[in-house]
Amino acid sequence: MRTSSEIIEDFLARGWKSNPFEKLIPLLHNEHNQLLPFALQVMERVPKGGTFFDLTLSYITEAEFSVVLEEAIRRLRSGPSDVCDSVVAYASLQLPRLLTAHLRELYLLRPNSGTYYEEWPWRAADNREIEWLKNAVKSRADKQAWRCLVETRRPEALLFAAQHFQVALNSSDSFVAYAHMAGFDLSGPSPRKLHSDTAYHMIFASGYFDASARPAWLQHENHPTWAPRCETATPANFGGNANGTCAHCEGPLHRLIHIENTRAVLDVRLPAIELCTCLSCLGWETPELFFRHDETGRASPYITAQAKGAPEFPAVGLKSGSVTLVPATPRWNFQDWALANGRENLNRIGGAPSWIQDAQYCSCPQCGRLMSFIAQLDSNLPTAEGGEWLWGSGGICYIFWCDPCAISGNLWQCT
Ligand SMILES: [Zn+2]
Ligand SMILES: [Zn+2]
Repeated sequence: MRTSSEIIEDFLARGWKSNPFEKLIPLLHNEHNQLLPFALQVMERVPKGGTFFDLTLSYITEAEFSVVLEEAIRRLRSGPSDVCDSVVAYASLQLPRLLTAHLRELYLLRPNSGTYYEEWPWRAADNREIEWLKNAVKSRADKQAWRCLVETRRPEALLFAAQHFQVALNSSDSFVAYAHMAGFDLSGPSPRKLHSDTAYHMIFASGYFDASARPAWLQHENHPTWAPRCETATPANFGGNANGTCAHCEGPLHRLIHIENTRAVLDVRLPAIELCTCLSCLGWETPELFFRHDETGRASPYITAQAKGAPEFPAVGLKSGSVTLVPATPRWNFQDWALANGRENLNRIGGAPSWIQDAQYCSCPQCGRLMSFIAQLDSNLPTAEGGEWLWGSGGICYIFWCDPCAISGNLWQCT
């Protein structure tokens, strides 16, 4: 077993050829007491950081993360630092409450400046911080404070930001895109949240994935989101074909997931829901697909007036198997596609979507209302024929729901 300082010495001497991941993984699982010293030493000696440092952050406890964060802020006072920026970015996803007491200082230090996650620490803003931001917007039309207010994801802060949109930005952009990124529809009389608060990870049966093709740092056992501990898991059936045919190509419908006890995981009126798509058509023949659901949850295509034809990229369904839906601990309630960097389980029911591009909620084809996000599936799922499924170049499929109409919709994004 290597010690944490040997890993750093090797890395400084030989770079990535020293295989830092291979040496780090046994520490993650068996030598927890080495992780905090390792993280602090990386901050001291490898200012650019690295993905092995990011992975370590997923394994340290909240108390240890707090120590790492204090050290990151202390170092940021002397100047910008990539590794310290990483600490703030991952804290804002995993443990935002650690940031609440530091927000005023982070506002001045501006770690991650210019990135799309620069304002994420303000997800942890309390009422006092929100008042301070509102004052900054009112008194000096402070754009940064305005963006932080949106990222608080609080309805009252969003309404304030909407009222001060022109003042703060002096722009002809629409506020709608900002509201959607924050997870709210502001078109009605009061803000409506577009996703649930609780996320559930889809945990696949052992052997479902072919582990032999993955490097060590992408093995599922090396990230806690792939195997969370839980006593209250909800079973569901994954992949395979569904009854019915695609309205575009007339090929078989592909089942994504069939949840037989929907109310255990989502606030919807149907007791069961079978979520489907057509892997041949979605994103290639049509940007979105919609399905009606009967009282048992079974899906049939919602027919829109579009030309039929043979798909350019005919596809088979996803490999069928059973999954359990396990509530995400608060640490993994928010997950980001880019910051996950291929390591995390982004196959989720509920919670906030991990957008790759701008927020893109489907509108219900029947009532026109914005649909709620209910699930997402990552790329690299096995197909029925032994391949690996990619959404586009390796993106995420997002699944939406209109509860009054019992209609689901889906689309995918990639880089
Ligand atoms: Zn089709
Ligand atoms: Zn509707």
